[in-house]
Amino acid sequence: MKLLSREQIEDLAKFKSEKYFTTSFFLDTKKRRQTKKEILLAVKNLTNKAKSILQDLGSEKAVKESALEDLAQIQTYCSRHLGSYGNSGLALFSCSGENFWQVLFLPNSPRSRIVFDKNPYVRPLSAILTEYTRICHLVIDRKEAKWYDVYMGEIFLIDSLTGNIPSQIKEGGFLGYDSKRIERHNTSQLHEYFKKADQKTFALFKKNRFDWFLLSGKDELLPDLTNMLHPYLIERLKGRARVSPGDSPSKILEKTLEIKRQLIIQEKEKLVESFLAELQKGGLSVAGLTLTLQKLNRGEVQTLLVTRHYSTPGRSCPNCRSLCEDEKICPTCQNKTEKVVDIIDQAIESAMDKNSRVKHINPPSGLQGVGDIGAILRYKS
Ligand SMILES: [Zn+2]
Repeated sequence: MKLLSREQIEDLAKFKSEKYFTTSFFLDTKKRRQTKKEILLAVKNLTNKAKSILQDLGSEKAVKESALEDLAQIQTYCSRHLGSYGNSGLALFSCSGENFWQVLFLPNSPRSRIVFDKNPYVRPLSAILTEYTRICHLVIDRKEAKWYDVYMGEIFLIDSLTGNIPSQIKEGGFLGYDSKRIERHNTSQLHEYFKKADQKTFALFKKNRFDWFLLSGKDELLPDLTNMLHPYLIERLKGRARVSPGDSPSKILEKTLEIKRQLIIQEKEKLVESFLAELQKGGLSVAGLTLTLQKLNRGEVQTLLVTRHYSTPGRSCPNCRSLCEDEKICPTCQNKTEKVVDIIDQAIESAMDKNSRVKHINPPSGLQGVGDIGAILRYKS
C-alpha cells in the first residue's frame, strides 16, 4: 500500500501489543544513489545490528522470538521484492506474536533503520507527508469548471460544475435594447456561476485542507472570479497554468507540477535568504550544530533548516533527551550522554516533537556556508 494520507498513519499508530515488540523497519531504496546489491547489503547490516540490540535488551524468550521472526520476515520480503521495487523508500511493520504485518511504499527516502517499540514507529512517515504539498487546481471557462486535487505526484478530478454561459453577445433585437438586456442577463449568469465556483472551492478547502490553490482560465474571466474568492482562498492562490477544462488530467498534472517545482524553489530560496539576513544582523536565527542544538533543546526553534541528507554523529542524553555535539556530561541535567550515529536525524525528530517546522534544503544553498544546519527562532532569548 502506498503512503498517501495522515489517516493511514493514524490507523497504524493505533496498533499496540502489550506483550511483544512491534518491529518498524525503514529503508532508503532510491536506486539513483545506490545499486540493488548495496540496498540488499544495507538490509543485512540493519537486521544484524537489530539482532545484537535485541540480545542487549534482555527481554523474555517469547518476546525475543517474536522480534527475531519479524526480522526474518523483513529479510525475506526484501530479498523477494526489492529487485523490481520502484519507490524511493520502504517501511515494514511487524509483530509476529500478534500476527501483525504492514507494508508501506514511500514516495520519499527515509533514513534506513530498525526500531523496536510497543507501537509502530510512525514519526518518519509524518516527516515524509509534511514534505508534500496538497494542491487544488480549478480550471474554468464559460462552459464548465473542474476541480483537481494534486498530491504526491497524482491527480484526481474531485468536482465539476456546468456553466454554459454564452461567450459573446449575439447581434440581436432593435435599437440595441435587447443586446443590452442580454448583456445584463449574461453578466448576472456569469456572476452566479462564479459565486457557485467560489462556494464549491471553499467547501473543498474545508474538506481537503489544501495548501496551495491554482486558478487557471482565460484572462477575461479570472479577474472577476478572483475578486469574488474567499480570503482564505486568496491567501493560498499561488498561480495559474495555460490549461483549459477540456485538457486531459495528465496535461493538467504536468503543468501543475511545473508550477509546484518553481514555487518550492522560490519558497526555500526566500526562507534561506531571510534566515541568512537574520543571522547577519544577529537577529532571530542561529547557525551551526552547537548553537542549533542548544536552541532546539530549549524549544526555541520555529523552523529547523538542514541541508538535505546531511548527517553527522553527536551525543544525546538518555535522561532528558537533550542533544549536543560532543559534551560527555549533559548540560541540562548533568547525566552522562551517549554517542549517536546521526545527531541530525535526532534533531529532526526533536524538532517535530516540539512542533517546529523542518525544512530540508537542497544543495547548493547559502546554508552550506554556515554549517549545513541552522534555525529560525520563535523569539530572541
Ligand atoms: Zn540530560
